[in-house]
Amino acid sequence: ILTIKNLTKKFGALTAVNNLSFTIKKGDVYGILGPNGSGKSTTLGIVLNVVNKSSGDFKWFDGNTSTHDALKKVGALIERPNFYPYMTAEQNLKLVCKIKGVAFSKINEKLEIVGLLNRKHSKFTNYSLGMKQRLAIASALLNDPEILILDEPTNGLDPQGIHQIREIIKKISAQGTTILLASHLLDEVEKVCSHVVVLRKGLKLYSGRVDAMISSHGFFEVKCNNQTKL
Ligand code: ATP
Ligand code: MG
Repeated sequence: ILTIKNLTKKFGALTAVNNLSFTIKKGDVYGILGPNGSGKSTTLGIVLNVVNKSSGDFKWFDGNTSTHDALKKVGALIERPNFYPYMTAEQNLKLVCKIKGVAFSKINEKLEIVGLLNRKHSKFTNYSLGMKQRLAIASALLNDPEILILDEPTNGLDPQGIHQIREIIKKISAQGTTILLASHLLDEVEKVCSHVVVLRKGLKLYSGRVDAMISSHGFFEVKCNNQTKL
């Protein structure tokens, strides 16, 4: 679904992403794992066409689709959710449907997936942070994307909120949507991802299956040196 090859991004003297390569296949739950400033969000920004790369390449789908067309088949949650506070969840999603050209009939289907169907008449301002985040996921799913990109979707949530988001990610994956998830938590990647690319200072330390990483020697060095938080 996405092939990244020798991708590099420089901000002046700083190399935020350094010659990065990895491939995401259909059905993967692919993690980008790394500490603060390791280049996770920059990588996502490049493939979403909101950050210009310095060099290297990335290809969406078969490689013959333009990035513009490919992004119509991508759902993304890369910032804190931004909805109208005094409108209900349903009203907010109706607006998104109008903007994206999606039928209103999708709204209930997506609210069901994130467990908010019974709260669709509540105003956004009365939602908890976890519910806001789940509504943002429902919104990103409205156009039935082939891949859903999530940048640190559990940040700032309480343990229950974190658990709910992780279960939703698993459910979306089980329904056939490919996932790309940036996280600084090894624990999160272990719990939800099938594959991972591990970054430090923009450089790739590992890419491949999560279970293979966990059983490899190098992983334990990484884990021990960083107290499970990379
Ligand atoms: P976090 O876990 O904090 O979200 P991250 O892994 O997403 O970190 P990035 O946001 O991709 O990291 O940043 C990688 C590096 O690039 C950091 O050193 C950051 O300060 C720098 N950087 C990111 N965006 C810019 C920018 N627009 N201008 C200059 N430097 C930037
Ligand atoms: Mg980031």
